[in-house]
Amino acid sequence: MTGDAVVELTDVSKVYPGDVRALDGVSLTVRYGELVAIVGPSGSGKSTMLHLIGTLDRPSTGRVRIDGYDVAGLGDRQLSALRSSRIGFVFQQFHLAANVPVRDNVADGLLYAGVPLRERRRRAEAALVRVGLGHRLDHRPHELSGGERQRVAIARAVVGAPALLLADEPTGNLDSASGAGVLALLRELHAAGTTIVVITHDLEIAAQLPRRVQMRDGRIVADQRSLGVPA
Ligand code: ADP
Repeated sequence: MTGDAVVELTDVSKVYPGDVRALDGVSLTVRYGELVAIVGPSGSGKSTMLHLIGTLDRPSTGRVRIDGYDVAGLGDRQLSALRSSRIGFVFQQFHLAANVPVRDNVADGLLYAGVPLRERRRRAEAALVRVGLGHRLDHRPHELSGGERQRVAIARAVVGAPALLLADEPTGNLDSASGAGVLALLRELHAAGTTIVVITHDLEIAAQLPRRVQMRDGRIVADQRSLGVPA
C-alpha cells in the first residue's frame, strides 16, 4: 500500500495546548492521482489535518508519511524542502503578492528549484495558459476578479508539478459561478494526473468529487467514493 500512497496518516492525533484534541486517532491513505474532499463542520479538525498533510505541523502522536517520507524522520530544513518541492498550496484568501504581475507571482512558485528567472517566467506563462489566464500575464492581482485570482494561485501551486495539491476552502471567498469555475479547473487538473486534497464545507461541491472524507470531532466518520466517478 505504501508504494502508491502519497499521503499515509496512521493513527494520528494532534493535541493543542489547553488539551484541545483537534485530531483523534485518524488514519487516512490517499493514492497518487486521487481527488479527495475533506468535509465536516467548523472545528471538526479539517485544517489541522491539512496542516499535517502539508507538513506545516507535526502530529502529537501517530505517523505521517508524505510522498514516501516519514515526517518524523526529517529535520525542519528537509521538511521545508519536501514541502516546497512536492506540495502545492491553495488558500481561501489567495495569498498573492500585491502589485506583482501575475506572471511573476506564479514564477515565484519555482524559486526553491533554482530555476533561472527566464525559465521560471516561461513555465509561469505555460501554467497561466493552462488555467485560462494566458491573456492576463502582466496584470496585477487587484485588477483581477476573485475567481481569476484563485486561478493564479492554482497556477502558482502547480507550476512546479507537485506530487500533491492541497486546497483549503478554495471557493470560500467566491460567488457560486466563480467557485464552479475553480472547481472545474481542479477537476481538469485531476483528470490530467494531479493528486488533489481539498477542504470544503460546501456539500454541493463535495458531492461532485469522486471521494469524500467526512470529519467530526477530530475523527473520520465516513469515507465515501462515488460509483462511476474515477478516483
Ligand atoms: P476545522 O478546520 O474543521 O474548522 P480546525 O482543525 O481548525 O477545524 O480545529 C479543530 C479544533 O482545534 C477546534 O476546536 C479548534 O478550536 C482547535 N484548534 C485549531 N488550531 C488551534 C491552535 N493553534 N491552538 C489551539 N486550538 C486549536
